[in-house]
Amino acid sequence: MPDNGKTNLFDLDRTQLEDFFEHSLGEKRYRAHQVMKWIHHRYVTDFDGMTDLGKALRAKLEAHAQVRAPMVVFDKPSTDGTHKWLLGMDPKNAIETVYIPDKGRGTLCVSSQVGCALNCQFCSTATQGFNRNLSTAEIIGQVWVAARHLGNVPHQQRRLTNVVMMGMGEPLANFDNVVRAMSIMRDDLGYGLANKRVTLSTAGMVPMIDKLGEVSDVSLAVSLHAPNDELRSELVPLNKKYPIAELMESCVRYALRKRGTSVTFEYTLMKGVNDQPTHARQLVRLLRQFDNAVQMKDAAKVNLIPFNPFPGTRFERPDDAAIRAFQKLLNEAGMIAPVRRTRGDDIDAACGQLKGQVMDRTRRQAEFRKRLQAQGLDQGPGRGGEIGDAA
Ligand code: SF4
Repeated sequence: MPDNGKTNLFDLDRTQLEDFFEHSLGEKRYRAHQVMKWIHHRYVTDFDGMTDLGKALRAKLEAHAQVRAPMVVFDKPSTDGTHKWLLGMDPKNAIETVYIPDKGRGTLCVSSQVGCALNCQFCSTATQGFNRNLSTAEIIGQVWVAARHLGNVPHQQRRLTNVVMMGMGEPLANFDNVVRAMSIMRDDLGYGLANKRVTLSTAGMVPMIDKLGEVSDVSLAVSLHAPNDELRSELVPLNKKYPIAELMESCVRYALRKRGTSVTFEYTLMKGVNDQPTHARQLVRLLRQFDNAVQMKDAAKVNLIPFNPFPGTRFERPDDAAIRAFQKLLNEAGMIAPVRRTRGDDIDAACGQLKGQVMDRTRRQAEFRKRLQAQGLDQGPGRGGEIGDAA
């Protein structure tokens, strides 16, 4: 979608916006604070609507800047309160963002890339390959669209209490844009979320975990999915580059930066692949070592995620008895290991399923193209899998 050479203010965190006002517009830095509140607290994108700014400043902003959110192609509520948006990022790419309400909290699952290059074997996003990184504006724009829809008022009427960077893509492979977007999520002039309420989930890019620890205090989640290198290298090819021992060491370093920091390990259960008692026992050993290294009980948290099948996958979801048996072995070892409930089933929003059905993707792509054509924005067919879907 055309940018007219104007700066999209969604791309700037507080410091950058202050710099923009001072250096590009020749205005006082505090003006940036007023504009941030208009954008992220009141969801105003039209400078004329920013009524506490003088007329001359509004005209200057109109000439040099814009506040452009992703285009909502469609949004779809589920009967269980889950809500999914298909957001157009450019004429060839769209992604999905999902809101999941639960007792006293509302979590938004946000994407960082269109597609993903890491090729995890059980992931539906991997099947479409990698298209491109999302900009800061496209990442924070997902939060903005959802927060506006929900009537979220930071510090007052919180409908959006948590953000998880667990949608499509590897967030640490798009480091700068993700870190900047997370800074807006945590800023009081943005969405005012506490550090622990913003979670970044990685497949294990070890050097970038260390880099994240240098600049941010967000919660860390690691897509582990296997308790030994042989199996993990098969399921998560990145493991060949950064094997489990190196990954766990980087997690220990991340946790040790600040007393009381825990790390969540996600474990997708796949029938006959990684759901056997021997896997559970190996997992317990691995995570106990982590607790010991961090010198904190329950420093390692486990999320068990029953696999959600998608067309063409060779993996299956274990039956409920097998899931319970795996969980019991962890519980008996003193570990808290909740099984993630399937949510948003009727809108393909369940975890690992956000990418959607292949047939459904084709239908959504047609819908996306139709809307773009209606707006005169369609530029013809793009690369395969251009309608992205969060994983
Ligand atoms: S699981 Fe995450 S890192 Fe792996 S391919 Fe899917 S989106 Fe990428």
